[in-house]
Amino acid sequence: MLSKRKFKEQLNRECPICGQKGSAEILHTQYFVLHSAHILPQVYDIVSCELCGCVFSDTSASQDVYDKYYAEMSYYESSHVETDTRLYSERANWIELVIPRRQSRIIDIGCGNGMLLRDLRCRGYSQLTGMDPSAKCVEFLLVEDIDAVQGSFFTHTDMKNFDCAILSGVLEHICDVSKMIDAIKVLIKTDGLLLVCVPDSARYYIYDNVPFDYFNIEHINHFDETSLLNLGLLHGMSIRNLQKTDIHIGTSMQPVIFCAYVNDDRPQTDWVQYSRERIRDYVARTSSRTATNQLIDDLVSSGEEIVIWGAGNYSSRLLATTALAQCRIAFWVDSDRHKQGTEILGRPVREPEALMRHLGATVLVAVAVYSEEIMAEISSMGLTGRIVSL
Ligand SMILES: [Zn+2]
Repeated sequence: MLSKRKFKEQLNRECPICGQKGSAEILHTQYFVLHSAHILPQVYDIVSCELCGCVFSDTSASQDVYDKYYAEMSYYESSHVETDTRLYSERANWIELVIPRRQSRIIDIGCGNGMLLRDLRCRGYSQLTGMDPSAKCVEFLLVEDIDAVQGSFFTHTDMKNFDCAILSGVLEHICDVSKMIDAIKVLIKTDGLLLVCVPDSARYYIYDNVPFDYFNIEHINHFDETSLLNLGLLHGMSIRNLQKTDIHIGTSMQPVIFCAYVNDDRPQTDWVQYSRERIRDYVARTSSRTATNQLIDDLVSSGEEIVIWGAGNYSSRLLATTALAQCRIAFWVDSDRHKQGTEILGRPVREPEALMRHLGATVLVAVAVYSEEIMAEISSMGLTGRIVSL
């Protein structure tokens, strides 16, 4: 029997995607017993937003508390993580794919001990900057002669014109996701890239390591493909590349999504409007292509008898929406045997060979694809009449 679904009507924090703070379904409640100096909450609900479905930890701590935690208590300063180079090379492989130009100005936000930047430098990238709240992490990088700044994009508002910003293993830790994305968009150029690497919550169940490993104290957002798409839509960014893959962490594997957003200043929209807007775009664009109607109008005016090659989808739409039905149609030709022997508007549909008995006919090719090939085929049949294509 299914357990009863539980909801909460008032969230501690806003949904990281759509920003609502009202209703959400509780999927799990995670408890921790933390050491005495720990400043993060010892319990939170894992919830799914009723409005957009995004799954997140409804932590009671604010972004300020998380900032303090990462500045003072983070383990990312420790050097033991450094030995796990494969963890970073998998990300660097993907970054190389989406931003191949070695002179690109790249900033790694929340760069930790800078392993990813060091890997990128080995691959020839020359304009690298690290940003991290931890002074020690910044020191690591400066010693390595990689540009680095301490703090966050909120404190470095003068930094601009990056070709690419990287949030690798960062966004799942952030309380104010929306605010962060808005601030990062200021850092990167128009048409620059925002590269996001996050755990893929839709595949936690496949990569089940120690119990409840994915509901750890630091990971408070549980993104999947849908929520990442929604995040881009709400911030006016399209997705250029999205890869669902896995990465090695020590001996275990974890599911991740690599997502490259383009800062292309498209109108902000939401997931409800997105698909219908794309269809509106399509209708507007395809409606404006009226040039083909002129040819049909000319054939109507000339009154010449025509044979139409193509008794399929395209001509059926043209019959309904143009003056094609007013042409003097002798017969139709189609290579589809299922159509041969039928009639359209009282005119027979015949096999292509029927044209051999009407060598002087004007042939109108009305097909969506292969029109050039069909015109070549008609020419090779020795027809002497006009061959025109829509
Ligand atoms: Zn939401």
